[in-house]
Amino acid sequence: MTVRVPFMTLEPRGDEPAIRAEIDRVIRSGWFILGPELEAFEVEFATATGSAFAVGVGSGTDAIALALRALGIGPGDEVITTPLSAAYTALAILHTGATPVFADIDPIRLTIDPAAVEAAVTPRTAAIVPVHLYGQPADMPRLQALADRHGLAMVEDCCQAHLATCGGRPVGSFGIAAAYSFYPTKNLGALGDAGAVTTDDASLAAKLRRLRNGGQSDRYHHVEPGWNSRLDEIQAAVLRARLPFLAGRNARRRALAARYRRALAGAPVIVPSECDAGHVYHLFPILSRQREALTAHLQQAGIGTLVHYPVPIPRQPALAGIARPESCPVADRVCSEVLSLPLHPDLTDTDADLVASAVRSFTAPAQAPAS
Ligand SMILES: *Cc1c(COP(=O)(O)O)cnc(C)c1O
Repeated sequence: MTVRVPFMTLEPRGDEPAIRAEIDRVIRSGWFILGPELEAFEVEFATATGSAFAVGVGSGTDAIALALRALGIGPGDEVITTPLSAAYTALAILHTGATPVFADIDPIRLTIDPAAVEAAVTPRTAAIVPVHLYGQPADMPRLQALADRHGLAMVEDCCQAHLATCGGRPVGSFGIAAAYSFYPTKNLGALGDAGAVTTDDASLAAKLRRLRNGGQSDRYHHVEPGWNSRLDEIQAAVLRARLPFLAGRNARRRALAARYRRALAGAPVIVPSECDAGHVYHLFPILSRQREALTAHLQQAGIGTLVHYPVPIPRQPALAGIARPESCPVADRVCSEVLSLPLHPDLTDTDADLVASAVRSFTAPAQAPAS
């Protein structure tokens, strides 16, 4: 069966010559780690996200873990996060030695429910890690009020939300720090692994610069046990070349999402609400109780889909015996119904219309009678 609309493609796009020129420039410079490209990218990315500092690190996972570590969070601490995200959000918490605690999601917004967070706070809670999932900002005003009331640090997982806003304010500016991934499929993607932490706190930024580089104060002087997690010069140059196009590409994502919403009105699926106009549509999920049949129907029509995510994080075997609570009923249901349609800036209107009409033509198979 021929693929007519792949879920996404990472083949070279229009920027290939520019990217090659950047890479060549770095190769000729002979400077590959912690050099001028990273320094320039950190300034440019901080400016773009409305933060005072950006610190480039090896991945989004490391960005979350290093931000928590820089805040002094570790063994004995609990960190509240969402059961519906890339598992890396919780794995990053585990890497610090702290314990992830899961608060269920809001059924409309699909991001962490502030009421559930409130209920999960204990004397050991040190921080909250909300995720702006699929590009939709979490309910930051309520989460921030809650964090302030309980004296908790907040690190925002912005790995799917580059340049998103919440109530007009940039995501990443609510917490003490924010974590970004530049994994190739993200809204801003490198040609390999890369990430960054943003913050307005100068001393936290200085600590992060030390922690990502083995905890060195000066060359060969390690004043604390840091990691080796740096954003290399070639990836920084690629990101610098792509950053100026990020806002425009996010706008294209929004236009495609609006097109899907219009075309899917009345279709036999649930389209999650856009709760904030600052949504940047990293993904376009829909919900269906007949997900497997719908997936097969779309595949027949040559349309690629993926599930983000099939397993709630607390039910991952990797967290067996650690995850508390194991069951988050809303996330459990969403994980069994959610399906991502193709949406990326290079998707054409024609292909989006093809996808939408294939979804509209889905007829649910007869349901087995309830037993
Ligand atoms: C991609 C992603 C991460 C992990 O980022 P990496 O760069 O792959 O380590 C963490 N959280 C969320 C929400 C993500 O989408």
